Amino acid sequence: MADEEQKRLGRENDSLANTQTIRRGLSSAGLSQRRLAFLAKLPVFLNSSLSLQRVAQISLEHILDELEAEFAVVYLKDNDESVTYWSLVRSPRQRSEGDVDLAQHPCAQLAMKNCFPLVLQNKEEFPGEEFDSCFGHSIDNLICIPLTVREKECVGAFQISNMNPEIVSDQSSLVFCDQFAHQLAFAIDNARLYQEAESHRQKLVALDQKKSETISIIAHEFRTPLNIIQNAAELLTSELLTNENRGEMVSLLQTSVQRLTRLIAQIRNVSLVQDESIPIELECFDMSRLVSIVVEKFQKVAANRSLQLVAHRPNMQLDVLGEPRLLSVVLQNLISNAVRFTPDGGTVIVQLEEEGDDVRLTVVDTGIGISQDEQQLIFEKFYEVKDCMLHSSGEYEFQSSGLGLGLAAVKHILSAHNTEVELESEPDKGSRFSFKLTRPPQ
Ligand code: ADP
Repeated sequence: MADEEQKRLGRENDSLANTQTIRRGLSSAGLSQRRLAFLAKLPVFLNSSLSLQRVAQISLEHILDELEAEFAVVYLKDNDESVTYWSLVRSPRQRSEGDVDLAQHPCAQLAMKNCFPLVLQNKEEFPGEEFDSCFGHSIDNLICIPLTVREKECVGAFQISNMNPEIVSDQSSLVFCDQFAHQLAFAIDNARLYQEAESHRQKLVALDQKKSETISIIAHEFRTPLNIIQNAAELLTSELLTNENRGEMVSLLQTSVQRLTRLIAQIRNVSLVQDESIPIELECFDMSRLVSIVVEKFQKVAANRSLQLVAHRPNMQLDVLGEPRLLSVVLQNLISNAVRFTPDGGTVIVQLEEEGDDVRLTVVDTGIGISQDEQQLIFEKFYEVKDCMLHSSGEYEFQSSGLGLGLAAVKHILSAHNTEVELESEPDKGSRFSFKLTRPPQ
């Protein structure tokens, strides 16, 4: 170990040893009536706000005055392990806050690492000679206490500096700061739990709103084909109907039924995008056959739109491990999207091929493509690049609307199969969605 490092560790141990000596005397150190009264009133102040920032500021205000210190800081670990600080200078009053690199704050770092208070009565006891200032304020002495919640989880530290030397050396000051930090940690924990609950609630509200919108869209989408079916059924019984009109009515009936069928398929997606993972029962089945069945289903709509829909697959059985019912939903969603987002006259290719020990399925189209920014977002539930209310609502018309659930269902189903969808796309050129499936052991 390098000399410097050894010296630093030595100094750290001395500081802790010092503190431990002081801590051993804690039980005998009595608090003055004034400080007991302060601690009794403290929860009222600290719990007056559920904002982390306010809690930190209120705590600094009160402790600085009580200990007649010059400077105090609250350090808090964020979820990603970065650290935020709030500081207050007593005179003239000056607040600051922001992110902090703990390496520049060795006392807080040490207290948080060991989850133990640190009392430094003068500069000689500091863990590093170069660290005799904090945020540009020269430090003569300090008390630094880790903030722990639920018994052992250290969430930050509270540090107070430049007190009257008699206050620092008085053991009851450490007891006092310890009690103060305990209450502060409790208030911070409360504020954090509240923030988490609030952000969870907001997400639920947004989702709930989205669900209500979806139900209105579904109701609206159902109404059109149902009206057509109802009218056509009434007209078909009319004696005035010519043969030509009758043919038109039948074709309208067929299109409306197709549209209802597609709506029902979309509603099935809703149950596939819940947060829980989908329970699947893997079985060995012929993917090549599934591809040909699903592609066949779309041939008629593709022909109506002069789209070329081609399946490239080996002319033999290609077994994979998966749940055919769910993988059929994946294929239907990908092909439906490719058809809907490719202008008339374009091409959609569904390709199935062996790839090492796996099988790869790719759906390529010459459609409108997806911008880089949207590529991650389209897999979120209810996300559509265009406002769905503005889409054309015809069945497989170019850019016709869905519910924004198809790709979320694809992602969810593939993740249950331990695989994921890969996307390459360029606006105005087209898109390629592909994924791998495992083959059964030979
Ligand atoms: P929806 O059923 O509403 O289309 P999806 O989750 O299937 O919902 O797709 C989300 C969005 O992603 C679509 O609204 C569309 O904007 C975009 N998208 C999906 N597939 C393609 C594709 N092949 N080409 C271009 N855009 C696509």
